[in-house]
Amino acid sequence: MQKSAVQHYDLIIIGGGMVGATLACALGDSALKIAVIEAHQADYNWPDGSHDIRVSALTHASQHIFENIGAWQSMQKDGVCAYDQMHVWDASGHGEIHFNSIDIGQMNLGHIVENRIIQKAVQTRLADFDNIDLLMPLKVADLQINTQQKAGVQLTTEDGQVLSADLLVGADGANSWVRQQVGISLSTWAYRQTAVVCNVTTSEPHQNACWQQFMPEGPLAFLPLCDDFSAETISSIVWSTSEDKAQALLNMNEQQFNQELQLAFGSTLGRIKLKSERGAFPLRLRHANQYVQEHLALIGDAAHTVHPLAGQGVNLGLLDAVVLAEEIQRALQQHRAIGGILALRRFERRRKADNIAMLAAMDGFKRLFSNDITPLKVLRNAGLGLADKIQPLKQMMIKRAMGLAGTGINDDLPKLARPEL
Ligand SMILES: Cc1cc2nc3c(=O)[nH]c(=O)nc-3n(C[C@H](O)[C@H](O)[C@H](O)COP(=O)(O)OP(=O)(O)OC[C@H]3O[C@@H](n4cnc5c(N)ncnc54)[C@H](O)[C@@H]3O)c2cc1C
Repeated sequence: MQKSAVQHYDLIIIGGGMVGATLACALGDSALKIAVIEAHQADYNWPDGSHDIRVSALTHASQHIFENIGAWQSMQKDGVCAYDQMHVWDASGHGEIHFNSIDIGQMNLGHIVENRIIQKAVQTRLADFDNIDLLMPLKVADLQINTQQKAGVQLTTEDGQVLSADLLVGADGANSWVRQQVGISLSTWAYRQTAVVCNVTTSEPHQNACWQQFMPEGPLAFLPLCDDFSAETISSIVWSTSEDKAQALLNMNEQQFNQELQLAFGSTLGRIKLKSERGAFPLRLRHANQYVQEHLALIGDAAHTVHPLAGQGVNLGLLDAVVLAEEIQRALQQHRAIGGILALRRFERRRKADNIAMLAAMDGFKRLFSNDITPLKVLRNAGLGLADKIQPLKQMMIKRAMGLAGTGINDDLPKLARPEL
């Protein structure tokens, strides 16, 4: 018998980043045959004592997801940094709010983890599952979707392989190739800010706290990193500012940058010194007008991007991944097609409202704090001060930020986002 030239999978995920690889792991013990196609070959041999300049503040919900898919232990080995306090203040006033994990009876508010550590843990975990092929590095050259067939997706890779699938998931990031190929439109606008990111040392300890100061051009955040190899206190900074100012910050020499950062942040953490290269990310709100079509779903940044001021982007994406995994499992149990629009619409309904609420909240915060109109300044300072004093409101805000409340219909957390199963 002649061997078929077409390799069939039940599910193909394009993008093996934090979100795409998590979806595959969440289905790692299922009967599905899965391929993850990732364009870039990652290098996991980083020198001791070095740090990625990209980090993520992970909520408790995200930690539970990683525990449940078996990736958290390896992240702990490589380094996660628990933070138990968060200080937020308005640089142009007196308003401030302080969150402490003790207020809600928790050990911490979340963890700061380098993106390369998360990526390594989830991609390495994929290798433990016989039903998953990680095809890396590989890119797809052509995509066809035929809604009349069960195996309705056909892909041709750049090296000439032909793959088919019942369901294709686009987890290929903000500029999603998949989203563009299938013609799903975006609601989008530029925040007119760029985030400058780098790592710094401070002469005073970070106290395992996140520090965020709002300035008219954008927020400046210090996120604690834990380092067993260094006696220095290291923090990752995300400095969202105007496009011109960001360019200027990138062009400055090290000494000028240190001075500018010190001037902006003040002496709260003592003397600040640059410890890494600097990176820049133009910030844009994006929301895909549809997350699904017959045979297709978008998750993570392919479906939505949000201002990093509350560190929610990947946390939302991970919830997309596990809710989609739940809906795929439900379709399988009910003997329905996993690429059928019914199963996919349930996923979209469960995630869209939650994602839009977070996008709108972050956009509102950004506008409120970027505004120099005096009544607004007075109002936000009074608002921060008041929120700091009203315990139930504060507790609700903490729980939302930790991912322990407000996740779509029925306010119900997906199973994989709950404490270890
Ligand atoms: C400055 C900054 C700070 C942030 N801080 C936080 C934070 O503290 N907490 C938080 O939750 N979120 C944060 N975010 C958001 C977070 O980084 C993103 O939401 C997250 O990276 C999205 O993950 P993803 O897997 O969906 O996409 P990506 O991380 O973009 O991964 C997409 C993957 O797809 C691959 N790919 C792309 N195109 C193709 C293709 N054609 N074929 C095959 N593979 C492809 C890429 O190589 C990549 O591996 C921050 C964002 C920024 C810009």
